[in-house]
Parts: sequence; C-alpha cells; structure tokens
Amino acid sequence: MAMIAFIGLGNMGSGMAANLVKAGHGVKAFDLSDAAIAQAVEHGASAAASAMEAVTGADAVVTMLPAGKHVRAVYESQVFPSAAPGTLFLDCSTIDVDSARHVGSSAVEKGFRFVDAPVSGGVAAASGGTLTFMVGGAEAHFQAAQPILEAMGKAVIHAGDLGAGQAAKICNNMLLAITMIGTCEAFALAEKLGLDQRKFYDISSKASGQSWSMTSYCPVPGPIPTTPANKGYKPGFATAMMLKDLKLAQDAAQSSGASTPLGAQAEALYAMFDNLGGADADFSGIYKLLDGSWSKSND
Ligand code: NAD
Repeated sequence: MAMIAFIGLGNMGSGMAANLVKAGHGVKAFDLSDAAIAQAVEHGASAAASAMEAVTGADAVVTMLPAGKHVRAVYESQVFPSAAPGTLFLDCSTIDVDSARHVGSSAVEKGFRFVDAPVSGGVAAASGGTLTFMVGGAEAHFQAAQPILEAMGKAVIHAGDLGAGQAAKICNNMLLAITMIGTCEAFALAEKLGLDQRKFYDISSKASGQSWSMTSYCPVPGPIPTTPANKGYKPGFATAMMLKDLKLAQDAAQSSGASTPLGAQAEALYAMFDNLGGADADFSGIYKLLDGSWSKSND
C-alpha cells in the first residue's frame, strides 16, 4: 500500500481521500481550509501543515483542485520542490488541456511520473467510489496510477498521452450540454403542441431522438423518477460546473482551430441560465429557461 499526499479536499476530494484510506493506503491530507483537513482526519487521513509537508516522503500525490491556475501554482511552487525523484502525480481536477500538458511535461522532464485523470461523476460518485477516470499520460505512468484510481472509481480508461484525459472530459461534457439542450427544446415544443410529455418520452426514447440526456437524465419530471427534474432541479451536476467545462471546451476549440458552433451556443445558453440565477441548479434545469417558466419559478 502506498503513502499518498492528497491536496484539495473539497466536495470531491473529501470522499476520494476517504476511499483511499478505506483501500488501505496511508493518506496525508492538505487543503487551504482547516475544516476540510479536519474532515479528512475524521476519515482516517493524517493532517499536513502544508502541501510541501504532505508531499515529503509520499509515494504518490493526488490533486483535486478548482482550476488550471491552482494546479500550476501547487505543482510548481510546492509539489516539485518537495517530491522525491520518480514520485507519481495524479491530477484529478478538471482543467484546461494546455495547463495539463504544461504541468505534466514539466513533471516528466524533472524525473517524476504524471497522469492527468479528470473524473466523470459528481459528489455522490466521489464518496461512493464509483467515479470514471479518463487518463492521459505515458503507458507506464498509467499502469502505475491504475490501482490508486481503482480505489476511488469504477472505471479507469487510458485516453492517450498527456492532456488526453482532459481532452476526453471536455469533449464529452460539450456533447452532453448539446444533447441536454436539444432534449429540453424537444420536450418544450412537445408541450406547446399539446403532446403529452410522457407519451413523447415513450416514443422518442425508443426512436432516433434517444440519447443519455433523455433516457438516463430526463430533464422533465415523470419519466425517470430519480432525475433532478423530480427534485426541483437540485444538483446532480450544477450549471456552474457545466459552464466551467463549456468554457474550457471553447478555449480548447479556439487554440486548436476546431469549429464547434453548437458548443459555443451551448456555452452562451448556460451562461445566460447562470446569470439568471441558475448557477446552483442542476444543468438539466435549463429546461425551465427554454419553456419560459424559469423566471416565474425563481421569483
Ligand atoms: P471544491 O471547490 O469543493 O474543492 C476544491 C478544494 O481545493 C477546496 O477545498 C479548496 O480549499 C482547495 N484548494 C484550492 N487551492 C488550494 C491550494 N493552493 N492548496 C490546497 N488546497 C487548495 O471543488 P470540487 O467540487 O471538489 O471540484 C474539484 C475539481 O473537480 C474541479 O476541477 C471540478 O471541476 C472537478 N469536478 C467536480 C465535480 C462536482 O460535481 N463537484 C464533478 C466532476 C469534476
């Protein structure tokens, strides 16, 4: 079993660190928040006074931080100077592809091992140990990371070289946003046409309009009783998080020269929903914006 430094014990990192402890690893926990460290200690981790202290003597370092700027700063100023040669780094944050490649290749040049390993699945999957990891990095580094990631997830997939995990994550979430908006528009139009929404679901879920957004995460109440639509659009996967991923996708499209007009439109619509008070609502709540009832329900 490994000694693992865990940096970033927020909504996601807290459950992930607890699962590493459950799997028998030693975990040294650091976060800027004392409360987050205290919670990790309750889950069986030991507290570190700084990121540098957590990393010193660790076999592996897992980071679960908000964005690319945090990942660059933590690795460059704290992790690189204090890690032993050959230490394995696993960055599970969702960040821009350029930062992932920059930090990953600096790590490898300095003689460390690095994978970018963003996750699919929210807070419940992080605590339940059922995340899906999309992993970028050299084959040997992926193989070293696999047993650690398996302690926190149900699926671990090697996507390609450095940055490929982040690329897979933002492409998937851009597609998810587009299919969700399309599904919401179709339900809103069905309603205006006097078509029973349950009937529309029964037909479209078995016809060519079917998608994950419809049959696993239906954005209207009724057809799938467990979706956020049945709980007042309590997340789930918050709109602010989806908007972050859509911005990353648009930045990546711009820097790579890809043409993503529907991704751009999805970002604009989620930005509007976010501005109108939808930031903390589930991303499927954009249905309420599209059927015209959001401002009413939000009064
Ligand atoms: P969060 O804001 O709850 O947690 C981030 C933690 O990082 C905070 O506790 C913060 O104090 C800590 N932190 C920030 N800078 C630090 C530093 N310099 N040193 C140490 N700790 C520092 O965010 P979260 O919801 O846990 O998300 C983490 C990452 O996972 C993000 O990149 C997010 O996009 C991604 N993600 C989140 C979800 C979700 O549903 N919440 C799902 C998939 C992916």
